[in-house]
Amino acid sequence: MKPAIQPPEADPRIDAFRDAVRAMREGHYVFGADTGAADGLGALGEELRLLAGHLDWYFSHASKLQEITDNVVGGLLLDDVLDRIFQSFQTVIPYNRIGCALLSEDGRSVRSCWARADYETILLSDGFSARIEGSSLGQIIATGQPRIINDLENYLERHPESHATRLIVKEGIRSSLTCPLVSKGRPIGFLFFSSVERFAYEGVHQGIFLRIASQLSALVEKGRLYQQIVELNQRLTIEQEELLQLATRDALTGVLNRRGILDQLDGQYSRARRGKGLMGLILIDVDHFKDVNDRYGHAVGDAVLKEIAWRIDRDLRQYNHLGRIGGEEFLIVLGDADGAHGVAIAERLRQLVAARPVSCEGEDVPVTISAGVVQALDPAIAGDYETLIAIADQALYEAKNAGRNRVAHRIVG
Ligand code: GH3
Ligand code: MG
Ligand code: MG
Repeated sequence: MKPAIQPPEADPRIDAFRDAVRAMREGHYVFGADTGAADGLGALGEELRLLAGHLDWYFSHASKLQEITDNVVGGLLLDDVLDRIFQSFQTVIPYNRIGCALLSEDGRSVRSCWARADYETILLSDGFSARIEGSSLGQIIATGQPRIINDLENYLERHPESHATRLIVKEGIRSSLTCPLVSKGRPIGFLFFSSVERFAYEGVHQGIFLRIASQLSALVEKGRLYQQIVELNQRLTIEQEELLQLATRDALTGVLNRRGILDQLDGQYSRARRGKGLMGLILIDVDHFKDVNDRYGHAVGDAVLKEIAWRIDRDLRQYNHLGRIGGEEFLIVLGDADGAHGVAIAERLRQLVAARPVSCEGEDVPVTISAGVVQALDPAIAGDYETLIAIADQALYEAKNAGRNRVAHRIVG
């Protein structure tokens, strides 16, 4: 008769191990069970303890990394993203300094665009650029793998031609971890983590580091693209302003053209109406200008117009605007502070122009101007701004009739 198989004596370690494995399944990576004797079951217990330790390490790093990435993602501009990386990565990688360099469009050179350290003097900073060909960075691009240099002084002795290494060694850096930044399969640059300690990166887990590298690449690329958009936008704004300048400036004299000065007039008119303020305009016309052209030629005529505009413009305060409203006619829109002083200002300008002839092409051309000034006490009553110009024109006509080189004025409203 076959002897009945006796169930093995239940080893209490089995229950303890099972409990530990269940706890791990629920996310508690601690193996506190007693592994007991060094038999087969004891060896299994030791393996479980190692596994728990590893899982604990891995998941705590992964969640820390996620937390950090969430923080860094909030940065929009490249500088902001890099600042956030600098502030938050210390718990995962040791460093005293982080630098970022981006590849040029053609991928032939690399240019340092950002650097931050927890010490004062950064010698290798923005704008430092180097060729990729023949440099050790080419190797990092080719393999896509991070590179660790544990003893930079020693590295510099072997590569005395590396100017960048010389500079960071001078800063006090002793080891470095260079991370290639790759976006959509294309290398875009490098992040350099550096420490003042030698062998600082020896213990850094490669798997975690590769994950960091790919996450950072995406963030840096996002920051870089956003920065490009912002810069493009700034350029567009400048170009728009330049276009506006072109559209509102008179090409010959550089003062506002007809459209420009009428815009100013429109603005000042609306302000004066809202504030029930008074308004002042000066309309200026060069006397006998046809004779200047006839006698000295058109080119001299142009030079005279330029000189007159310059003399007037230089004398006016910033809040008064001068524009060339027609051939040899100028309009001045007075700001609030000078609205009541149109006659005095026009008289001063008349004297300024008449005071000395305009010298041009060896000729001294005597010139005078006449001015019509209008002062509207209440622009709402006086009528629209075209009416005001028409009234200034009447005053100007009066000044011409009275013999030119003089100022006449009207008060309305
Ligand atoms: P008044 O004292 O009555 O204003 O006489 P005037 O000769 O100045 O007036 P008129 O309107 O008869 O002539 C204006 C002249 O200004 C005619 C025109 O050829 C000249 N002119 C207008 N624009 C320009 C310009 O851009 N350059 C030059 N050189 N001449 C111009
Ligand atoms: Mg005229
Ligand atoms: Mg004239």
